[in-house]
Amino acid sequence: MTTGNQQSKVPSHILGYPRIGDKRQTKFALEHYWKGKKDKATTQAALAEVFTTNIQDQIDAGLDVITTGDFAHYDLVLSQAVAFGVQPLRFAGAQTLDTFDRQFYFARGRDHTSQYEDTAAWQMTKWFDTNYHYLVPELEADEDFSNTDFTQVFKQVSDAKAIIKNSGKTDKALKVVLVGPVSFLYLASSKLEDKLDHLDKLLPVYADLLNQLGEQGVDWVQMDEPILSLDLEGRWQQAFERAYNGLQQTPPQIIVANYFDSLGNNCNIACNLPVSGIHIDITRSSQPKQYVTQVIDHLPSHKLLSIGVVDGRSVWTTDQARAQEILLEANERLNTPHSYTNGNQPKAADGSINERLWVGTGSSLLHLPVDLTSEDVPENLKGKLAFAKQKLSEVVVCAKLATGDLQPDSAATDISLTPTQSAAQSRDGIFKDRYAKQQAKLNLPLLPTTTIGSFPQTAEIRKARCQWNNGELSDSDYQDAMKAEIRQCVVDQEELGLDVLVHGEAERTDMVEYFAQYLDGFWLAKNGWVQSYGTRCVRPPIVVGDISRPNAMTVDWITYAQSLTNKPMKGMLTGPVTILNWSFAPSDAETRDILRLQIAEAINQEVSDLQDAGIGIIQIDEPAFREGLPLKQAEQAHYWQQAVDSFKHSASCAQPETQIHTHMCYSSFHDCLHHISAMDADVITIETARSGLQLLDAFKVDSNIDGADGSTNTEDNYQQGYQNAIGPGVYDIHSPRAPDSDNMQIVIDEAQKYIPIERLWINPDCGLKTRNWEEVRQQLRNMVEMTEIVRKKYAA
Ligand code: GLN
Ligand code: ZN
Repeated sequence: MTTGNQQSKVPSHILGYPRIGDKRQTKFALEHYWKGKKDKATTQAALAEVFTTNIQDQIDAGLDVITTGDFAHYDLVLSQAVAFGVQPLRFAGAQTLDTFDRQFYFARGRDHTSQYEDTAAWQMTKWFDTNYHYLVPELEADEDFSNTDFTQVFKQVSDAKAIIKNSGKTDKALKVVLVGPVSFLYLASSKLEDKLDHLDKLLPVYADLLNQLGEQGVDWVQMDEPILSLDLEGRWQQAFERAYNGLQQTPPQIIVANYFDSLGNNCNIACNLPVSGIHIDITRSSQPKQYVTQVIDHLPSHKLLSIGVVDGRSVWTTDQARAQEILLEANERLNTPHSYTNGNQPKAADGSINERLWVGTGSSLLHLPVDLTSEDVPENLKGKLAFAKQKLSEVVVCAKLATGDLQPDSAATDISLTPTQSAAQSRDGIFKDRYAKQQAKLNLPLLPTTTIGSFPQTAEIRKARCQWNNGELSDSDYQDAMKAEIRQCVVDQEELGLDVLVHGEAERTDMVEYFAQYLDGFWLAKNGWVQSYGTRCVRPPIVVGDISRPNAMTVDWITYAQSLTNKPMKGMLTGPVTILNWSFAPSDAETRDILRLQIAEAINQEVSDLQDAGIGIIQIDEPAFREGLPLKQAEQAHYWQQAVDSFKHSASCAQPETQIHTHMCYSSFHDCLHHISAMDADVITIETARSGLQLLDAFKVDSNIDGADGSTNTEDNYQQGYQNAIGPGVYDIHSPRAPDSDNMQIVIDEAQKYIPIERLWINPDCGLKTRNWEEVRQQLRNMVEMTEIVRKKYAA
């Protein structure tokens, strides 16, 4: 064993890889399977092909540790819950389905094998501060995790081993990814008051799984514990030691992986867990060098540290010089030889290896598009971008930088911005005065009805867009096709008797992508797909420089729609916070603040143009308003301030008579209502139907608002809950079912108890683009019918 750090090799690995395939093969295979167009064997063969590529790509890139187990068919948390035998009561009988089919039944609420009834799907929630959604495991109070079935992960292990063997690279170590027990419980929902009470029954299942993985020759298990990035309560902190004390065993060796932020207050706990090593993500740290030093200071001298230097959520290449500076020092400090007792270690050709340092990606590469190779990258961006596949080689390079075997050949490729000097503006006037003027001008009835913006994206619309993109349809033919859609949409809304109409968003593929196409400062990768949930993929635009608006983006469509009707036409825009959160942009707060404000200025210009064109209502959607909230509490106040300011800036040119709407969905409002209030939109439409009125609950009592005098909620400031107008979604658009008007009325009957009737609106809870016209007409007919009833009921 050589100990000179110049010669010792530093092993390289990744934390996970996209499973959608470079051509979204997984998506198409599964969707065909669910529709019965493909049988199980063919489907699984298609998935196996993507799996093989994922392993082979890692081998070909030269990674030392090959990672598997993360190839979930829908979601990793879900796969693991299914493997642990979790099965909520309403899915009774579903254990007759194999784990492959059962996971889809849980995720979709629909058994595609048609043996079991449709029922509510598992809830989906954002995975930390990403735009990926995981499935929330539902644990019964007496959950005993007894019906385990590890076939899926074992198959990945044996398949990966075969691929490694075939490649002749037998010196590779094999690592399996699992969601660690503490994060698993933290992210689950449970009928028990204290979820940690499940730990005693959960740990033996992990122990059993680890044992069997060891027997299969797995060298390492990466236990993902991303909750270590949060400010955890003491009892959750303590759970870590308890959990890992129960899992100490080799083989396999355990590496506890944290990502998306630094360990913060959990540093000591993580470093002292009874495991072989820990992984940290330094790509989200403002002071990565100090962070690494701090961790090494805390880390017992026999433990391994994996440093994530390659950002798993950035499409830019790694700053090699900066990475080397950190890694050289870490290698020096950690280069004390240590003999592992068990398991296959990655080995250098000459047998020398630093057994205490690994180099990796910060987080899983799941959050990146798969491959840049076939993209038409603009000249000025060439050599600066890296998608998942390119990041594999970057990790290998960084591992060599750590030993000094390689010198950095790239500098920072981050974007450089010219911040504008001007501060964020707010609009004039207070809500009460504005709203009175608006309602007088718009001449709206009590309880006005409207929709959230989109109407069905029909096959014809998609076909026209496809032909236009392929050059088969001229610009003007495409515009005519879209105008025909808009016209039909307006006619339909008039027939239905809605009060405030929309143009229907036929021309938009996606509410962020559409604007990114028109704004300067964005680049869109043709095949830049990223998994959002299940088989659903999104294509986040990439911020490449200062953002500005060279031309109007929506005015022609909206004014055309307005020309077709005497009713008010609502202009439809996406807000700055959402555009930024759903794009690839630098992760540091300072840069994000600049970009958000630049987008806000662009939206503000659009608001101004719409207003000048005679549009009296403008909606600025912010469904992702809460999503960019930093994981650490200390940084949250700043985020809220910036998010609110940028939204306000985007609406700041609106005259008092111009009514500004906003829309939010999938948000939990309980902890942020005062920020939502501070946005000062005249009308907010929210999702209430699916969450069983719980959301509405937040709008009636805002427990976060202290009285102006510092007192807590009194009868007086109780009234202050939400001051502006609000449209609680009266039905769930995610379901094809049309609830009858009685059902929708429940929402209004409840809402009017807390919000004066003059400030209530009636609308669905989100856009209608995923529904078909038949469903939409029926649903809206019921909604209008209900409106007539409540108008009579509540008219003064
Ligand atoms: N206006 C958008 C639509 O109706 C809003 C979508 C959303 O909230 N995600 O589709
Ligand atoms: Zn919505």
